[in-house]
Amino acid sequence: MNIVVCVKHVPDAQSDRTFQESDNTVDRAVDGLLSELDEYAVEEALKIVEAAGEGEVTVVTVGPAAAADALKKALQMGAHKAVHVQDDAIHGSDAVGTSLVLAKAVEKATDGSPELVLTGMSSTDGVMGVVPAMLAERLGLPQVTYASELTVGEGRVTIRRDGDVASETIEAALPALVSVTDQINEPRYPSFKGIMAAKKKPVETWSLADLGVDADDVGLGAAWTSVVAFAKRPPREQGQIVTDEGEGGAKLAEFLSAQKFL
Ligand SMILES: Cc1cc2nc3c(=O)[nH]c(=O)nc-3n(C[C@H](O)[C@H](O)[C@H](O)COP(=O)(O)OP(=O)(O)OC[C@H]3O[C@@H](n4cnc5c(N)ncnc54)[C@H](O)[C@@H]3O)c2cc1C
Repeated sequence: MNIVVCVKHVPDAQSDRTFQESDNTVDRAVDGLLSELDEYAVEEALKIVEAAGEGEVTVVTVGPAAAADALKKALQMGAHKAVHVQDDAIHGSDAVGTSLVLAKAVEKATDGSPELVLTGMSSTDGVMGVVPAMLAERLGLPQVTYASELTVGEGRVTIRRDGDVASETIEAALPALVSVTDQINEPRYPSFKGIMAAKKKPVETWSLADLGVDADDVGLGAAWTSVVAFAKRPPREQGQIVTDEGEGGAKLAEFLSAQKFL
């Protein structure tokens, strides 16, 4: 089975994130990495292909030049090939625009016949969690979300979806799109062999023109949503330090009670 995994390059959550005053978008000129939640989708795709003993994993990203780092990490983990959609006109696209470009890229990468498309449950920066649903709609595929277990059978995909009070088992006919959670597996670290092998793997770079997407349909100008204001969260206040001189337990209980935890 040939699997396409959508991976996003995101600002490192450890670095100080800022917004650009000019258009209220997150400044991406900071250290970036493969969205950690997408590593689970890459791992799951690799496991499926390895278990089947055949097939390929293609990773696709839509993002500026630095997004190549996300592809590199996925290739080092074991993905077979990568597609990078890069075009200045895409900057500032919202989920609607991003899903349009992704859909065209998935179609081109699979000659119009995707078998299984995997995504993370949400990006770790935008955190909209809607791109997978929009992508499935554009590709005309059934979509099953938040998979914490995934099994591919003859012409079908079955997932477990964990809710607060129950777990559901859901089946969909292939081809399908599945978004996965961080419960589904333990992503592997790239091995030395994987890092060396990644250097030789094919990476295609496509522009909007290559995908037949009109620049007027994407980017900040075409976005259906916009960030109209932002404010930095106030810094965290220093916590209360209790020195235990015999009555530490009681003081802790008092504190928890005052915070309505008890
Ligand atoms: C090229 C580009 C440049 C952008 N530049 C900025 C910017 O500078 N500042 C800013 O604030 N916003 C920018 N945006 C918009 C921002 O990234 C949006 O939040 C995003 O397009 C959609 O929402 P999300 O990432 O929250 O998606 P979610 O719905 O939370 O993502 C869920 C899953 O969809 C897949 N996915 C989502 N986006 C991509 C992608 N781009 N490539 C591959 N897979 C993806 C992943 O599998 C992900 O786990 C940009 C978007 C694009 C496409």
